[in-house]
Amino acid sequence: MDGAAIWRVAVPSPLRQAFDYLPPARWMGAPPAPGVRVEVPFGRGRRIGILTAVAAAASVPDHRLRRISRVVDEAPLWPRPLFELLLWAADYYHHPPGEVFSSALPAALRQGRPASPRAAEIWRLTAAGRAADPAALARAPAQGRLLTLLENATGGLSAAQLAATMAGWRTPARALKAKGLVETVAPPSLPPPSSPPAVEPSAPQGEVLESLATLEGFAAVLLDGVTGSGKTEVYLRHIEHLQAAGAQALVLVPEIGLTPQMAGRFRERFGGAVVVLHSGLTDRERLTAWAAAREGRAAVVLGTRSAVFTPLARPGVIVVDEEHDGSYKQQEGFRYSARDLAVARARREGIPVILGSATPSLETLENVAAGRYRHHVLPHRVTGHGEPRLRVVDVRGRALAEGLSQELLAAVATRIARGEQSLLFLNRRGWAPVLLCHECGWVSHCDHCDARLVFHRSSGRQHCHYCGSVAAMPEHCPECRSTELRFLGKGTERIEEALRGPFPEARIVRVDRDSTRRKGSLEDALAEVHSGRADILIGTQMVAKGHHFPAVTLVGILDADGGLCAVDYRAPERLAQLIVQVAGRAGRGDTAGEVMVQTHQPDHPLLQALAAGGYGAAVPILRGERRAAALPPFAAMALVRAEARREDHVLAFIEAAVAVARARPVPGAEAHGPIPAPVERVADRRRFQLVILADGRWPLHQALTRWLPAMEALPGVRRVRWSVDVDPQDLG
Ligand code: ADP
Ligand code: ZN
Ligand code: ZN
Repeated sequence: MDGAAIWRVAVPSPLRQAFDYLPPARWMGAPPAPGVRVEVPFGRGRRIGILTAVAAAASVPDHRLRRISRVVDEAPLWPRPLFELLLWAADYYHHPPGEVFSSALPAALRQGRPASPRAAEIWRLTAAGRAADPAALARAPAQGRLLTLLENATGGLSAAQLAATMAGWRTPARALKAKGLVETVAPPSLPPPSSPPAVEPSAPQGEVLESLATLEGFAAVLLDGVTGSGKTEVYLRHIEHLQAAGAQALVLVPEIGLTPQMAGRFRERFGGAVVVLHSGLTDRERLTAWAAAREGRAAVVLGTRSAVFTPLARPGVIVVDEEHDGSYKQQEGFRYSARDLAVARARREGIPVILGSATPSLETLENVAAGRYRHHVLPHRVTGHGEPRLRVVDVRGRALAEGLSQELLAAVATRIARGEQSLLFLNRRGWAPVLLCHECGWVSHCDHCDARLVFHRSSGRQHCHYCGSVAAMPEHCPECRSTELRFLGKGTERIEEALRGPFPEARIVRVDRDSTRRKGSLEDALAEVHSGRADILIGTQMVAKGHHFPAVTLVGILDADGGLCAVDYRAPERLAQLIVQVAGRAGRGDTAGEVMVQTHQPDHPLLQALAAGGYGAAVPILRGERRAAALPPFAAMALVRAEARREDHVLAFIEAAVAVARARPVPGAEAHGPIPAPVERVADRRRFQLVILADGRWPLHQALTRWLPAMEALPGVRRVRWSVDVDPQDLG
């Protein structure tokens, strides 16, 4: 057989390998460049895979080789550096390469559709449309809203952007087009000029921008600044500067749905040159956005975690906003960290990456300490007041009304009297309305998991947050038949009820996953707060991110204890970040803010440090704990998680896996287990894990490379469901 006759293909499958094929029948000439899609026979069906390499010899006997069915693309889907990053990521996360490539593709491309969809048209106002008054369209409110939307968008909006902002936009758009008020044009080949920024950079912002402008090639920059210190303004300015030179920017944010303001600011500045990738897009819209980025028609790509894989024709910078946020880690399947991949990608693309945060992760701070990352600080809020004062409220032995202390209630009363707003923050993790028998202490549990059932008013039933099973509300305690059933813990609903007593007239708004499930309800709730009509905002994690509430002058954190005594070693870091982030919501307007943290552990050094010196003072404590325990970032970690219906099957598998590791020692790496998962039983399956700790990433990688193939070959492997998580974010 002549040289280069074997095509190696990453096919989506659970196997950690690529597969060898013969070229398609009657293939002439040179093989295509790696990175094109090919369709291949696989098992009894066909699959779309990615050509990763061309080899002279196959790893299987010739007679077992099958032929590629067809070549889908003329050119590779990814620019070379991004393609190589994906191969590297498969290796680093020890995940099947075919699945890594699939996760990096829009669904339409996974199914084999063409990579260059029909060019997406841009909708914009005509001269008549610019002169029209939306109020005149009062009888057609959807048309009026669309008109207003387009008025505020320099350069018009693409179909994808319209779909992201307004449900059912097409009918009013067609009507406006028929009236000659809007027109459709082909997307600009070059991004339209952005509207000039309204503000001049402050002195610290100016320094950062100057330094960013001089960067050439790869650099990782931590932009460390309290909420409201002007980080976003720095991103916008720097991207403008790049855009003038024709380069594109990739901006990652933790959650777009929760932070419409962020997307709004980018659209305001860059108009139709921004594509926003969010979960509401259809497959077609997603592909259109992807193609606009890849073909260089989009100046800015704004998206969540998976946007890190978006190809860019002329990359100029990657921004990771709120880099500490846990949602950058994918928790199932291909368990990558978008933040870490953003840094690795920037290195390969030879461009800077900016990591922004008011509460940088310990990992990133360690990279700064080691001199690998640059560190820029925006020390103050742009407007007015300093950071709010943090007060620790000792609730030991106090009478609490649904977890609200008298001190906190008094502080809320003061705000109401002054016409200011209060934000009460509930750490929903591990704190939920669970049914309890007041007579015998029975607690409502899921029949299939070691988890409690949580009551949801919307359905009137109890739900398991692990397996999704649902149970009716019992009328009697199943143990003692008592009807005295009460709720343990507090949900946002219970807190709202408790506030009704002392503040019957107050307007209370709740923001949590349940109250905002209906489309548009989050926007409504936020509008209520922004308009100043709301007196009290009760919220969960959802309000900790990105929102600006100028009239909020009091933040109450109802229970800091959950984070102080959790199983997960990252819990204290998360708690400190959360407290500082939530605190950042307060006092952004004209009045200084106050933050009250309720706890049963008022002397806890972490809380004391936060109160005395903010996040910066908490970091040495957090770092000290991690260093002493030799946990990340002072070690590298991977988890092997396994589950099965039968406990003996999981235990036997993990024990055998530990034996595999011990029989193949790797210097600097150790395997520990079996360790029960924090929630040991989910959906009737027992969960145990093996923890691998290593002195660094290299020994960890070597250990996984040596151990995983042997673990895959264990006789008990088919009796369990198992997965590998490199750099896990959660031990659960
Ligand atoms: P961060 O991203 O750090 O929270 P932002 O960039 O959102 O900070 O800035 C906070 C607020 O201050 C925003 O309303 C922003 O428009 C405003 N702002 C930022 N930079 C300036 C500046 N140089 N001059 C005036 N206002 C500014
Ligand atoms: Zn009972
Ligand atoms: Zn369950």
